[in-house]
Amino acid sequence: MAQVKALGLLSGGLDSMLATRLLQRQGIHVECVNFYTGFCVQTHTRAMRNPKTGQEPARHDALHAAELLGIKLHMVDIAEEYVRIVTDPKYGYGKNLNPCLDCKIFMVQKAWEMKEELGFDFLFTGEVVGQRPMSQRKDTMPKVSREGGAHGWLLRPLCAQILPETEPEKQGLVDRSQLMGFSGRNRKPQMALAAELGVTDYPSPAGGCCFLTDENYARRLQDLWDARQTKAYTMDDIILLKAGRHIRPNPDFKVIVGRDETENRFLRGFRKGRAALHSMRMPGPLTLAEGVMSEENLELACRITARFGKGKDLDSVPVHIDMDGKEEIREVKPLKGSEIPQDWHI
Ligand code: SF4
Repeated sequence: MAQVKALGLLSGGLDSMLATRLLQRQGIHVECVNFYTGFCVQTHTRAMRNPKTGQEPARHDALHAAELLGIKLHMVDIAEEYVRIVTDPKYGYGKNLNPCLDCKIFMVQKAWEMKEELGFDFLFTGEVVGQRPMSQRKDTMPKVSREGGAHGWLLRPLCAQILPETEPEKQGLVDRSQLMGFSGRNRKPQMALAAELGVTDYPSPAGGCCFLTDENYARRLQDLWDARQTKAYTMDDIILLKAGRHIRPNPDFKVIVGRDETENRFLRGFRKGRAALHSMRMPGPLTLAEGVMSEENLELACRITARFGKGKDLDSVPVHIDMDGKEEIREVKPLKGSEIPQDWHI
């Protein structure tokens, strides 16, 4: 009989690693897929590391896990199609702007297409019943399988024993007795299983993997949609929301201030179509201004730039402005902290 082949969704967290190991233990050939949505925290963290400062590149959990598990990992960019999941989720958002149920369904759809194309027998995930409020509930998990197009062919090895039998179990491709019946948020059973399966190197479950679950990030994204009066975004938009101090003095204008050298360097890459400002002759941030470049707005952007530089207590500071190659220097009075109302900060 040909070796059974399973394709899993691998985040790189403990659960997806354990699900993979449980299947490998049964002699099943496992490969996994990791989807890039544009909101992945680790990809951003890696981009923010500055090799010139000698910082090690941040670890990518899924890549690291795949290496430890000895499996092939398919890295697939779904960011473009994912826009509609974020802007118009059929099942709405979780606590912040995380459309978890729609997201899971979409990822299963994408994985199912790969399964068909690459000839795998079934799909699996590391989900555990009751672990997440939106997508990992007993009533929503069948919805993910069904609407993801996998129907009975999506196995959850960590909680299979408390779910109805799936097709791979019914057809003898997987031994149900060797799967688990975990439920709830208690991590102890997973940790005991990890010890049993020799999985010792895994990321802390507290580490967030998706910006959409982050309250601050969600507020910035909502602000972007409110300011544009439409729920749309480009890749540059969502990447920029991850870095710097964001200040919106009025609905048609926003300023992003780098908070350290790494962020300054990062922001510099997004100058095109925006004004890039920095204080001259003294250390300070790189600032990007976007929106309506009226005289008044530009002056304000200069004064904010000066405010966050070493010259903030001086009477005036020269600020260099670069607007897509059109350069200008303005002498401005740095804003006082009290001149930046709390509700400008987003
Ligand atoms: S946390 Fe983010 S990546 Fe994970 S299911 Fe929710 S929306 Fe999708």
